[in-house]
Amino acid sequence: MTTCQINHNLANVRIVLVGAQHPGNIGGVARAMKVMGLTELWLVAPKKALDEEAEARASGASDVLASARYADTLTEAVAECTLVVGTSARERRTAWPLDDPRDAAERLLPKAAEAPVAVVFGCERSGLDNESLDRCQRHMRIPTNPAYSSLNLSAAVQVVVYELRMAARQTTEDGTVTTGRPPATSAEMEGLFEHLEATLHTAGFFKPNRSGALMRRVRRLFNRAAPDSSEVNLLRGGLRALTNAVRGRGDPPL
Ligand code: SAH
Repeated sequence: MTTCQINHNLANVRIVLVGAQHPGNIGGVARAMKVMGLTELWLVAPKKALDEEAEARASGASDVLASARYADTLTEAVAECTLVVGTSARERRTAWPLDDPRDAAERLLPKAAEAPVAVVFGCERSGLDNESLDRCQRHMRIPTNPAYSSLNLSAAVQVVVYELRMAARQTTEDGTVTTGRPPATSAEMEGLFEHLEATLHTAGFFKPNRSGALMRRVRRLFNRAAPDSSEVNLLRGGLRALTNAVRGRGDPPL
């Protein structure tokens, strides 16, 4: 199974709810956050105190609910943040850059390595007001059915924190997802390339003495994929089976 390591920047992402009306939704937000590994819940001037319904909807995430921080203003809640993204169900005709949750998560995560960042959500009835949106450097909209575009508050948070978790998976420098195991060694990669070249020769794929340029491209392809040792072994097992098949003595399938 491919295991993805999660980096720790998620702990630096604040989910800020401005003027939330229903305690039940706040509980739902706590749960949405905890399942994706976020813990920093900020409540700006909620309309009602947390109650039994909030607890019930939080389910096993009552710790996130209990450690929620309160602020009177959004300005206070995001004071230390280096990037603040406001969410809106509506497409506003403004100069604000508008991201989808995937792009926003990719912007937020690297910043979260150094300092807190925030994603801000509005109240159930009217969303984020313009004054709150003014406090945000970017805006995010979850792409939806244009005829029915508004998600429930905790559902909107769920979509956003899922994308944050996906963006937090350990990636290699060129942005590809790793398996969480170290990449194959240079010697293992050379063994693979030799094996591949020999197999392609056996299959008659190369013109005589013309394998150089093609093998360079094959190397580039596999180096980009950065396989780990077990993946190299898997490929070499496949090559052995192909060689046997070409020679007319196929192994029984695995
Ligand atoms: N009636 C409000 C929607 C409120 S929904 C309006 O028209 O704006 C409550 C909150 O959930 C919103 O303030 C926003 O933070 C979030 N939300 C709901 N749907 C969303 C969407 N499609 N994209 C981004 N955020 C959304």
